[in-house]
Amino acid sequence: MIDLRSDTVTQPTRRMRQVMMDAPVGDDVYGEDPSVNALEARAAQMLGKDNALFVSSGTQSNLIALLTHCARGDEYIVGQTAHTYRFEGGGAAVLGGIQPQPLDLNPDGSMDLELVASYIKPDDVHFAKTKLLCLENTHNGQRLPLEFITKARALCDQHNLQLHLDGARFFNAIAAQPISSQKLAEPFDSVSICLSKGLGAPIGSVLAGSNMFISEARRWRKMLGGGMRQAGVVAAAGLYGLENNIDRLIQDHRHAEQLAETLSSKFGQGSVQQATNMIHLNLEPARYEKLRAHMRNNDVMVDRPRWVFHLGISPQDIDKIINLINTLQI
Ligand SMILES: *Cc1c(COP(=O)(O)O)cnc(C)c1O
Repeated sequence: MIDLRSDTVTQPTRRMRQVMMDAPVGDDVYGEDPSVNALEARAAQMLGKDNALFVSSGTQSNLIALLTHCARGDEYIVGQTAHTYRFEGGGAAVLGGIQPQPLDLNPDGSMDLELVASYIKPDDVHFAKTKLLCLENTHNGQRLPLEFITKARALCDQHNLQLHLDGARFFNAIAAQPISSQKLAEPFDSVSICLSKGLGAPIGSVLAGSNMFISEARRWRKMLGGGMRQAGVVAAAGLYGLENNIDRLIQDHRHAEQLAETLSSKFGQGSVQQATNMIHLNLEPARYEKLRAHMRNNDVMVDRPRWVFHLGISPQDIDKIINLINTLQI
């Protein structure tokens, strides 16, 4: 089975499982798990931050970041289609009394910063207190323009806002351009990365920031029930992913490019958009349904017209899919 539904479907490899088997562990709530400590130290170093926190998921990581940056009655500005607004169950509002101010994103995932500025509330009893801007990199596979990030930071400085990055696929952005991870993370006060997507770990995310931010975040993690004990078994998989699976992400991007080319010659220009490890198809629903059924009948799992490439997909798999597309009568 070739599964293109998401890069969350990756299975830990034999070598990753071996590392998990051999991981030294301790009670992480006491700060005594050497594998968790090693992961947190390495992630902090890679993201150029003082400290980092191993958490159960990207959703928990973003929620902890929001709870740490904002108090009850505060507000964060966020993209209408950003994960931290749309796909996290309203957690910040439900659990933190934090109001979101969603705004439309530009097609490339950036925001109109004049629009953002116009939504920063003045200090007035009528308004929630605007405290934070949240960005996402990559967004729908697209990497945020560097110039936009610099300008967003300047806007935050001007208005005394914090800046959080939902970097679930941060390392796909790194693999797609010549920039260090420290440099790309530098403008942000906090950065969340997922270990369980392209990096191939079964579970986990990491939240990075200043020492003060992370000690407060650690308190929130415990309160949310996210204090884990011998978590080194899974942290070791995450560390393995950080050490071994970043450079290979470019291969996933190549696979996406190859398939985009094939689909574009089959269905015409404009029928497909590729960005890092994703392709988005833009076909009439009936045509897409035919393609989807053809794929499924041949053991290629696809769902909505977003196909995602990851370490479970080999060059042979790509050849097979290209062949399937080329032989489809449509
Ligand atoms: C997957 C994802 C998350 C959340 O990760 P989970 O581990 O599934 O909770 C957050 N943000 C973005 C952009 C994502 O793609």
